[in-house]
Amino acid sequence: MSALIIRGARPYGEDAADVLVADGVIAAIGADLEAPEDAEVIEADGCILLPGLVDLHTHLREPGGEEAETIETGTRAAALGGFTAVYAMANTDPVADTAGVVEQVLARGEEAGWCDVRPIGAVTVGLGGQSLAPLDAMAASRARVRVFSDDGKCVHDPVLMRRALEYVKTFDGVIAQHAQDPNLTEGSQMHEGVVSAQLGLAGWPAVAEESIIARDVLLAEHVGSRLHVCHLSTAGSVEIVRWAKQRGVDVTAEVTPHHLLLTDERARGYDATFKVNPPLRTEADVEAVRAGLADGTIDIVATDHAPHPRDAKDREWDVAAFGMTGLETALPVLQATMVNTGRLSWRDVARVLSETPSAIARDEQQGRPLAVGEPANLLVWDPRPTSVVVPEQQATRSTNSPYRGQELPGRNVLTLLRGRPTVRDREPVARA
Ligand SMILES: [Zn+2]
Repeated sequence: MSALIIRGARPYGEDAADVLVADGVIAAIGADLEAPEDAEVIEADGCILLPGLVDLHTHLREPGGEEAETIETGTRAAALGGFTAVYAMANTDPVADTAGVVEQVLARGEEAGWCDVRPIGAVTVGLGGQSLAPLDAMAASRARVRVFSDDGKCVHDPVLMRRALEYVKTFDGVIAQHAQDPNLTEGSQMHEGVVSAQLGLAGWPAVAEESIIARDVLLAEHVGSRLHVCHLSTAGSVEIVRWAKQRGVDVTAEVTPHHLLLTDERARGYDATFKVNPPLRTEADVEAVRAGLADGTIDIVATDHAPHPRDAKDREWDVAAFGMTGLETALPVLQATMVNTGRLSWRDVARVLSETPSAIARDEQQGRPLAVGEPANLLVWDPRPTSVVVPEQQATRSTNSPYRGQELPGRNVLTLLRGRPTVRDREPVARA
């Protein structure tokens, strides 16, 4: 296999170095490295070198939702966003609740070749919330599932949640909970507060999220198992997770880029692009999740990339689908909200968008250190240029980006998947 040398990039945003990649691994790191004669040279002065990004929460929509996204288009969007691995949520049609379906998703990801696709298994059969899916069969399958979630729905029954937590302990798995009390959010359209009252839209109260998180951290403590909180969105949720961690509960939490940037004020135009679940919250909540991410209470950033066809979003707010795309804008939004404001370093970015997501999923192939001998899953990111988001120009099949027309920082110079370029200067590179 041919070699490639990245000249002058700054690993983790620290001192510049050259990085030689050969045979799919990092072969050398140092100043003024000698490159083999046939090596491709990437000039990367001023760019940041990061481990390939890892998204623990992606909706690829295939099987069943190909009008919105396919594994091919979704993973190409992921590569353009700098990702080398994504975790595919189970709410497809059919639901990923058997070894057969998760193995099919894994195989489709391998065929596409843009990044590693790791299937998430459903917790309950058909996401029905009635009986446990065959978690052990999915764990033992070729997909080696370790993350289980009914995302889109909450595992509401506490007995079932307790059993699921007990079950995954046997193979060191984790339950990723979409925390939403269904009884407290029936018919909910947006965050319950001043704006929802003024607009006359049914509210989704913060307590519907917080009460489930509080219950689940206590269950996880009682059982001695691992809990992951999906897309935490309120100040109260941050406080509960902080309290649980101080108590020693084995809990991790994620925040989405959109909850780091946008508030419920966006609903005022009744543009359903901004309709999402959990909903956009208040300025105080945005500040609390930023603080929680900065101090480590929130462990990771995950996109909750949720593509929808136009006819599901271009309609009245109350009948439009929940969700927004996010794979191609995740790092730009994180850079804008947390790095350019001095609240996270690039080393922190590597932690929250690569190392810790892989660690939560017990994947030892991704989220690795930038060190000799490690697999060359890498991102070269130029933080200096900005560009305006045009959803129609993105690789995702859907256009429901909440950042349309917004100027965001950063440019993907190179993404490597085990040494092979998947993106070069913002263009996807098909496998030879
Ligand atoms: Zn969710």
